[in-house]
Amino acid sequence: MRKTTLNGLTYDQLVELCHLAGAKPVHADHLMASIFRRYNPDIDAITELPNVLRNYLAEHTCIFEPDCTASQQAADGTQKLLLKMPDGKEVETVLIQASGRLTQCISSQVGCAVGCTFCLTATAGLTRNLTAAEMAAEVFAGQRISGRKVRNLVLMGMGEPLHNYNEVAHFVRIVTDPKGMAFSPNRVTLSTSGLVPAMYRMIEDELPCNLAVSLNATTDEVRNRIMPINRKYPIAMLMQTVRDYIAARGNKRVLIEYVMLAGINDSPDDATRLCELLDGLDCTVNLLPFNPFDGTEFERPGDDIVSAFRAVLVKADKVVVVRESRGREISAACGQLKTETVATRHHRSA
Ligand code: SAH
Ligand code: SF4
Repeated sequence: MRKTTLNGLTYDQLVELCHLAGAKPVHADHLMASIFRRYNPDIDAITELPNVLRNYLAEHTCIFEPDCTASQQAADGTQKLLLKMPDGKEVETVLIQASGRLTQCISSQVGCAVGCTFCLTATAGLTRNLTAAEMAAEVFAGQRISGRKVRNLVLMGMGEPLHNYNEVAHFVRIVTDPKGMAFSPNRVTLSTSGLVPAMYRMIEDELPCNLAVSLNATTDEVRNRIMPINRKYPIAMLMQTVRDYIAARGNKRVLIEYVMLAGINDSPDDATRLCELLDGLDCTVNLLPFNPFDGTEFERPGDDIVSAFRAVLVKADKVVVVRESRGREISAACGQLKTETVATRHHRSA
């Protein structure tokens, strides 16, 4: 019989489980506090639970904690962890220190099907979606291994979160539940390559998190080339969706991500077009100078090009952050997440 994974359940589902076990709903609060708030997987340590519930949990449920099969630390404190899922598949999660706060980058899939040409994760394609319990377990592992409270979660690891909408939405609800992990919805950010219908679903479901959109180009011609998803959801449609999102969610500041590729999308004209696309939009722009990897055709622009691009945006009163590539020497920087196992497999099949 397949056991229910406790760390993939919401509060309401834990109440339902107590009901099934013939125990009082208040024990859902005890389970939430122990598993999600104190990150303690030891059910026996919850003294308040009645035996009937204890026995039910032992028979029907489990708590999933992935093994950390590798860990690397960069000089700037960024730590990359390789986590093994129950079927042996491995995903990466990255802990990033910034001004004393810890941000954890969460993977939502093993691989990715979107196929952006500048992204290392894309090269192996999609293996499978992660479950909400597996993503929650990434957070458990992050807290346990760092020994510190993770402040922010960003769904910017391996995978396209909106291609795995149901499990990701479930995960977002678990981590923001005030009775459990209690992450503020402002501190959870979902980054998408621009899956328009799923973005409307986020609006409809009032998903409690921030939105980040990987725009990465200012013309359809270039975006088609670097992000094949643009053929389905071109720039004008995507930007309209972002505007609808902001209108529907109130003044929620959206993050616009822009990977800078030398000679492809980094000209002053691109900067000007970007200002036009973002005109009147309540957003922060994250400039991500490309992180090169073996075999890529792209190059990282020089610092002077990045500065000039940034200056055009600042002049147009845009809020701009040039994201330093933390942990570059351990390939933990943005878009560099790929397990050694996947990499080896890819090389073999190449
Ligand atoms: N699939 C989602 C989230 C994961 S990628 C998305 O695409 O938004 C997170 C961010 O890393 C995206 O903005 C993506 O454009 C960027 N990225 C991917 N590869 C990169 C690279 N080699 N250098 C810099 N940024 C990269
Ligand atoms: Fe997937 Fe995002 Fe990489 Fe594109 S940039 S291939 S959507 S992980």
